[in-house]
Amino acid sequence: MYQHVTPYAGDPILSLVETFKQDPRPNKINLSIGIYFDNEGKMPFPNSVFQAAQRIENQVQPYLPMEGHAGFRAAVAKLLFGAESLVLQENRVAAVQTLGGSGALKLGADFIHRWFPQSHVFVSDPTWDNHRGIFEGAGFEVGSYPYYDPATIGVKFDAMCDFFRSLPEHSVVLLHPCCHNPTGVDLLPEQWDTILNIVAERQLIPFMDIAYQGFGDTFDSDAYAIRQAAKLNLPLFVSCSFSKNMSLYGQRVGALMVLAPNAAQADLVLGQLKFIVRRIYSSPPAQGVLAAQGVLGDTNLAAQWQNEVYEMRDRIRAMRLKLYEVLREKLPEKDFSYFVKQRGMFSYTGLSVAQVQRLRDEFAIYVLDSGRLCVAGLNEGNVETVAKALAQVFA
Ligand code: PMP
Repeated sequence: MYQHVTPYAGDPILSLVETFKQDPRPNKINLSIGIYFDNEGKMPFPNSVFQAAQRIENQVQPYLPMEGHAGFRAAVAKLLFGAESLVLQENRVAAVQTLGGSGALKLGADFIHRWFPQSHVFVSDPTWDNHRGIFEGAGFEVGSYPYYDPATIGVKFDAMCDFFRSLPEHSVVLLHPCCHNPTGVDLLPEQWDTILNIVAERQLIPFMDIAYQGFGDTFDSDAYAIRQAAKLNLPLFVSCSFSKNMSLYGQRVGALMVLAPNAAQADLVLGQLKFIVRRIYSSPPAQGVLAAQGVLGDTNLAAQWQNEVYEMRDRIRAMRLKLYEVLREKLPEKDFSYFVKQRGMFSYTGLSVAQVQRLRDEFAIYVLDSGRLCVAGLNEGNVETVAKALAQVFA
């Protein structure tokens, strides 16, 4: 019956996690997958989210509407656009609760493909692997724009601008407002201004995927690009995820926001987003979103949560600094300052595939073949070991 079904090659990141699990070496260290671990190497549950989750335990959950929980949608819109945002006062944002950030990307992709069928999508080179997968899965041709510069471990900013200037109208450009995955290399505010002006001039469609709000700098400054795009009245799409900053990974909590020129068009967009949802999964899950809304909708818990995220951010920064200090001491002739300049959970290390393989074989340290290292997997117990291994591999 199913002989003609071709095998699935598997997802490179998830397959590597399987290889890691099967590695019998007791001292193995997993820095491959994008999960935040605390200093004890455990996945923490922010106390604020835990408290909110406890309040709704053991309750029957009726179906949510297709577009999801109204209070959550409004609270997320404020978190992204700012509490005083004009576009929210003018009801110009169509907001839908989604199944994590991935669900938001897919919903946005399906909508754009239906209503802008001529558009092509461009993702940063490199980007989170699944960006390409999700947009191709929605029927798009996906190209890439210049972004990461291995020579400087920074952004190829001029090449990026030139590329955007060459794109046809309504091309979709997928952008990371903060904590670029996989490189950790972000645009500066003035670079965002330049890019967004080009997006406006060329009439491109900016799709901003924010999965790490609060891990880069502050909740507000991490949303700089989103708020600038709103000020410029761009036809903005935002996908966001609470997997990392609320530790709600398996609960699948995220949202899609679409900015329209006026409230009537925002309503049209919302209607078509609901139509897509109805035909795939009908309505989103309730448990996780109620926990998230319990936090966002309670002033005290929301403040506590933001501080808890900042503690995670600061722990990651401390690990970056430690890596940098050990490497600087071991290999003073090389410049490793990029480890402290990069932001968020990930670092593009500049390791070659051969060096990544050596780390795995000789030191039982797992990073992705691209050289992406999850800094959030480091802790005081393993950072020194990792830094020394990196020094040997880089030497
Ligand atoms: N976008 C980016 C940039 C991500 O890193 C991730 C998660 N790794 C996602 C989207 C997907 O988020 P979620 O796990 O909530 O589906």
